[in-house]
Amino acid sequence: MKKPELLAPAGDFEKLRTAIHYGADAVYLGGSQFSLRGKAGNFNETELREAVAYARSRGARPFVTVNIFPHNRDLTALEGHIELLAEVVPDGVIVSDPGVFTLVRSRAPHLKLHISTQANITNVAAARFWEDAGASRLILSRELGIDEIREIRAATSLELEVFVHGSICISYSGRCYISSFLASRSANTGECTNSCRWTYSLMEEKRPGQYLPVFEDARGTYLMSSKDLCMIEHLPLLADAGVDSFKIEGRMKGINYVAGVVKTYREAIDALEGKMSYNVKARWARELSMFSSRGYTTGMFFGRQPDADFNSDGEGYRMSHELVGVVMGLREGKATVQMRNRLDVGDSVQYLSPGLEDRSFAVDALWDEAGEEIVSARNEQTVYMRAPEGVRSSDLVRRAKSCREGELLMEHEKPTAERIPAEE
Ligand code: SF4
Repeated sequence: MKKPELLAPAGDFEKLRTAIHYGADAVYLGGSQFSLRGKAGNFNETELREAVAYARSRGARPFVTVNIFPHNRDLTALEGHIELLAEVVPDGVIVSDPGVFTLVRSRAPHLKLHISTQANITNVAAARFWEDAGASRLILSRELGIDEIREIRAATSLELEVFVHGSICISYSGRCYISSFLASRSANTGECTNSCRWTYSLMEEKRPGQYLPVFEDARGTYLMSSKDLCMIEHLPLLADAGVDSFKIEGRMKGINYVAGVVKTYREAIDALEGKMSYNVKARWARELSMFSSRGYTTGMFFGRQPDADFNSDGEGYRMSHELVGVVMGLREGKATVQMRNRLDVGDSVQYLSPGLEDRSFAVDALWDEAGEEIVSARNEQTVYMRAPEGVRSSDLVRRAKSCREGELLMEHEKPTAERIPAEE
């Protein structure tokens, strides 16, 4: 069994660097105009060139999304964008629309084309269609079960990619106008506001302002809010079904999420080693439970899920760990940290570094860039602090937030802070 690729979201340059640092084999990113996830930050022409070059220089494969459904008015600009991609030559261009597919094939035949999940490939005939048309990879519909994936695997030699982690639509993978109707931002052009997850009430036309109670449970009703996908327990099954690439959703999410999820799936994929099953480490579940989610589901992979297992209760799980800063360098036992939050001497932090995951460290001193000792660091400041052995440049510094009882999927261990011995 070939080790599947770990494919991570790169909503901006920092997320791209973070994903690669924590072990992504490949990253997907969008140009500023033609990518679903119009609000993800995205890359202008210069940044796109730099991003592709950066990923390559680190041994990762860059894929570029051009997966909107363009209108006629978009086509001239789109052709210019294809010329840019023809020059930059990412390892794959992700498209949904047959027109975009045809344009890329004719203007840049040397580019590999990946068919987006938005194209909704759900059957063997569709897979063969795209193979005959010249695609390289199919990003299968999220609505498929593992048995159907096996059948498609048997019918095509194209690479197969599936989403294994992250948010999912309550509609048919992005084919939805809720956001367009309610917020004038269309999911089909990359601007979804996740309107399906808002809280809804019932109001009778003649009684404006009076909200009639509709109860799914004591907190209200969240009929359209799906749980988030998490397949960490079932990667061996997907690999055995012939999936070549495991994709993580989340170009809109922050580096804290990218780092923790990529690191966890990296470890899980490395543990596969051709096995049909593996022990899910408690640490993986702990790490994945640290991020805001609506609870986790295995989606459609095992057939239709009972509603209770698919619908979130809307409240979800809030992030239990917040980003404190990013390690920019290390020297003589001290880390240079670019702050992303306030930090005080005496606070307890954790490093997302191999071997240090479950340990906390008390901050016993802080120095500013001039070398002056300070008692508190603010967001965006660069500071020096003592760091334990094992911390690497580009690692994240985090800290636990206080959270509600029962908020996490799994009870966190609450390590007591260790004090790093002061320098002699
Ligand atoms: S509103 Fe919800 S279901 Fe519709 S595209 Fe956005 S996330 Fe998907």
